[in-house]
Amino acid sequence: MTIYADNAATTRLSETALNAMLDLMKDNYGNPSSLHHKGQRAKELVEEAREDIANCIGAKPNEIYFTSGGSEADNQAILSAAYYGAERGKKHIISSKFEHHAVLHTLDKLKKEGFEVTLVDVYKNGIVKPEDIASAIREDTALVTIMTANNEVGTIQPIEEIGKICKEKGVIFHTDSVQAVGHIPVDVNTFNCDMLSISSHKFNGPKGVGVLYCRKGTVLTPLINGGAQERNKRAGTEYTYGIVGMAAALKEAVKEMDESIKYVSALRDRIIDGVGDIERSFVNGDREHSLPGTVNMCFEGIEGESLLLLLDGDGICASSGSACTSGSLDPSHVLLSMGVPVEIAHGSLRLSLNSYNTEEEIDIILSSIHRIVPYLRSISPVWEKIQKGEVVE
Ligand SMILES: *Cc1c(COP(=O)(O)O)cnc(C)c1O
Repeated sequence: MTIYADNAATTRLSETALNAMLDLMKDNYGNPSSLHHKGQRAKELVEEAREDIANCIGAKPNEIYFTSGGSEADNQAILSAAYYGAERGKKHIISSKFEHHAVLHTLDKLKKEGFEVTLVDVYKNGIVKPEDIASAIREDTALVTIMTANNEVGTIQPIEEIGKICKEKGVIFHTDSVQAVGHIPVDVNTFNCDMLSISSHKFNGPKGVGVLYCRKGTVLTPLINGGAQERNKRAGTEYTYGIVGMAAALKEAVKEMDESIKYVSALRDRIIDGVGDIERSFVNGDREHSLPGTVNMCFEGIEGESLLLLLDGDGICASSGSACTSGSLDPSHVLLSMGVPVEIAHGSLRLSLNSYNTEEEIDIILSSIHRIVPYLRSISPVWEKIQKGEVVE
């Protein structure tokens, strides 16, 4: 038995996306740049996918650029805006402390190149304050980049307000929407954003493909140079199968969104309520402003890694936070940025659900947690100290 509760890391391929890809793989291997009919048919399919994806986020087809995924989209958006700003004497960038590493590490690179980066606080609830952004904006601010929803704790940011502030002040605004697209309503005009990143494999599409939305009039520089694909902004033969699969997955996700938000958030609430009786445990983030399926918890006195291994032994796939940082023993930068103490951040568990999960699965997860947490505490020297009151908070 496998219970998959790690959908913030990646999702299974939907039947619809799989079939769309298989049909194309069997039927047409043409290169969209070729002039013959096979190539032109492939091009048509790519353009249809572009239009479908644009419709899903309120964009125009010529504002959609296909990339290899969310990381590439983030890199291209940030580097483009940074270098564009630098040419005009603007070398200041604003972001938040708990962005994805695709954003934070790109900002680190820019810092080494002489850019100045302000990372705003995300507070205990994991939500950026728009007024902090407003007061951080300076004459020389080239870019504001704030994620739509956090991948570890699921909190949704006040993107519309931040976008409005940036628009008023004439600063380019990018949002990493990888966790949001396909899960909650995303509209580039309501968001007031100039650039937005999407990744297919976070909404039941194939891996290795994504989108950078770039508003008409916002300057975009290629990361990958070569052919004239993507209107000279992203060279390389299009990943036709992936693009078509991604569009199929997104159309389906958007069509079923209202229903899945209700269904998935009920599953999440079942988890939150179900762990309520475990002493010295708490849920990180903000229950009201949250993605439907993401819940992040801490259990004092245990190691998240041990909890994960034992859950895996029960067939349950979960995460201690970001897939990108697991394997390292450093506690999550997201939890630390929210003020969770280092010792407690070590005992974190992220469950991320989607509409493939069932109530029965949630009950199995809950019963595993109720067995494993007391067991790990019974062999934990830290828990013993907590019991004796030796650990001061
Ligand atoms: C998964 C993720 C990414 C990276 O997307 P890839 O397609 O895996 O490169 C970026 N940002 C966030 C918030 C993510 O969750």
